[in-house]
Amino acid sequence: MKQYPFISLKKVNEPYEHELVAVAERVIRSGRYLHGEEVAGFERELSAYCGVGNVVSCSNGLDALRLIFKAYVSLGVMREGDEVVVPANTFIASVLAISDAGLVPVPAEPSAATHNLDLDLLERYITPRTRAVLAVHLYGSPCWSASFEEMAHRRGLKIVEDNAQAIGAYVDCGGARRMTGALGDAAAFSFYPTKNLGALGDAGAVATGDDALAARVRTLANYGSDVRYHNPFCGYNCRMDELQAAMLRVKLRHLDEITAERRSRASVYERAICNSLVRKPLALAGAVWHQYVVAVDNRQAFRDYLSAHGVGTDIHYPVPPHLQPCYAGLKHQPLPVAEKLANSVVSLPITESTPLSDFEEIAEIINSYKVDC
Ligand SMILES: *Cc1c(COP(=O)(O)O)cnc(C)c1O
Repeated sequence: MKQYPFISLKKVNEPYEHELVAVAERVIRSGRYLHGEEVAGFERELSAYCGVGNVVSCSNGLDALRLIFKAYVSLGVMREGDEVVVPANTFIASVLAISDAGLVPVPAEPSAATHNLDLDLLERYITPRTRAVLAVHLYGSPCWSASFEEMAHRRGLKIVEDNAQAIGAYVDCGGARRMTGALGDAAAFSFYPTKNLGALGDAGAVATGDDALAARVRTLANYGSDVRYHNPFCGYNCRMDELQAAMLRVKLRHLDEITAERRSRASVYERAICNSLVRKPLALAGAVWHQYVVAVDNRQAFRDYLSAHGVGTDIHYPVPPHLQPCYAGLKHQPLPVAEKLANSVVSLPITESTPLSDFEEIAEIINSYKVDC
């Protein structure tokens, strides 16, 4: 039987193999493995791509988020015990970064249509201790609105973007396109191998138009040292290495093609899936479709059916952070929408390395799904 794997990283990187091998050789022969031209080049190129003043490369997406919040604390912009609103249905890394900086994560309800923060409900989570909203562009869909931005400015809140899943996404603001990663005060990127721009290992980045924040992030990521052997702060080692930067520079040049391929796959699903048991996500023009996530009531039966027909699926995410043992003590408002989504979401294959025609076939398989089959 024909197989439709959820993702194959080998296939994802196959089109770039010759280029990747060539740059790997370049780095190996350079004798420079950290703090070199590749990292500096990648930072310049990502900064130009997103249209944001500063990019600081780092070790992974969680560290990018941690560095942003720790830098805000270090700069005195946020203090221990201050609150950060975060979508309740995000990947746990978003929440870990907040609590790791001594801040309090306040999980907020998503919208069942967009799977992103329900921006209409946001103000109910804001208290005098709120300092920021972590806008997670979940599944590659931009979490943004003009009234959200206006509310944050009016209340003096920072908007931090978790752009781990949404590199290349945009929102239309009165005809002008604004890229995610350049919308808020600071943004974290992840280049985990499965992300739309995936390294061949771990890597991440912070982007911000705030020069003081960028400088503090860079210092904290380098042992808290601004000038060699001078340490004004207690920092960390969160470097991106030259090999990963070189690989990412190759793939960044192909990112727009990758995004276009993912958008065509999502369009096939959007047009061809027609089954009243399967709720499709709201299709935003600027989304980059890191995941294509449907909601189905009897999820296990649906997944078993797809698996029996060769279609691989995954779940993002089965247990929301506020229900994880590590956050057992976390106070929060009732989160029925997030909890229902956690029990009904199913991620379908969407990878650009799977031929476009396969998605018509997957849609047909989905359309034949009945409750009792
Ligand atoms: C992948 C991801 C992260 C963490 O990135 P890593 O590079 O794996 O540390 C954070 N937030 C979201 C939403 C992610 O999808």
